[in-house]
Order: sequence, then C-alpha cells, then structure tokens
Amino acid sequence: MSPFNNNEADTSETVFGKIVRRAIDADVVYRDELVTAFRDIQPRAPVHILVIPNKTISTMDDVSEDDEETLGRMLRVASDIARNEGLGEEGYRLIINCKEHGGQEVYYLHMHIVGGTRLGRMIAQ
Ligand code: AMP
Repeated sequence: MSPFNNNEADTSETVFGKIVRRAIDADVVYRDELVTAFRDIQPRAPVHILVIPNKTISTMDDVSEDDEETLGRMLRVASDIARNEGLGEEGYRLIINCKEHGGQEVYYLHMHIVGGTRLGRMIAQ
C-alpha cells in the first residue's frame, strides 16, 4: 500500500471537503455542526457566498431522506447570512447547480448565495 494512501492524500476529496475539515483556508462566514459557509473565491456578484453540508454529499442527485435536517439548515443559514450581508431588503438568489447540465464544477453539494446587485435573467436565453 502506498504511504500516501490515507485521507490526507485522498485525491477524490474535493476542495470543499478540505475546507470543511480545515485542511485548506477559506473566508468562512459561518460554521455549525451541520453546515459551513464561506465566500466564493471568484465572486460573480458583490455578495457571493457558498453554503455546504459538513457531511459529504456530491450532488443534489445524491440527496436522501437522511439529509432533510442538513438541507433545511442550509436554507435557514442562507437566509440568516443574506440578512446579515444586507441583502434582505432588496433580495438575492440562491442557486444549486447539479451535474453536467446544471453546470456543476465542484462535485460537493453547495448552495450559492448571490446578491448585492440586480441579477440578470435566471436562465441565459
Ligand atoms: P459550481 O459551478 O456550482 O460547482 O460552483 C463552484 C464554485 O466554487 C465557483 O463559483 C468557484 O468560484 C467556487 N470555488 C472553487 N474553489 C473555491 C475555493 N477554494 N474557495 C471558495 N470558492 C471556491
């Protein structure tokens, strides 16, 4: 067995998995026992924050009944963060991309909170 064959060197782990277990830095705005939220490294709007489960879930297509509490927490935390970021009054958008057709780049479930400006149409024409 390779000496690198351990969790630390698990190449299947995504960057978000590493953020959850604090192996790499992120601009974390909120953390609890179920979810972590941090600023997107390439913001597409004045406010662009990602909310992720601490438990590894790859995509929306992998969600099960066991995940109801976590998904509920993601939404409630997103609402609190958006309000704290000053987005409550004028609004914002929550986005979860799923797999190839949804344009998902990182295969670790995440919800985007985007706001701070008037956003374009939801789906490009
Ligand atoms: P998606 O296309 O829905 O998979 O979005 C992935 C998002 O993750 C993109 O908006 C990236 O800018 C963001 N991202 C990738 N790596 C990092 C990172 N290390 N820290 C924060 N955001 C990241």
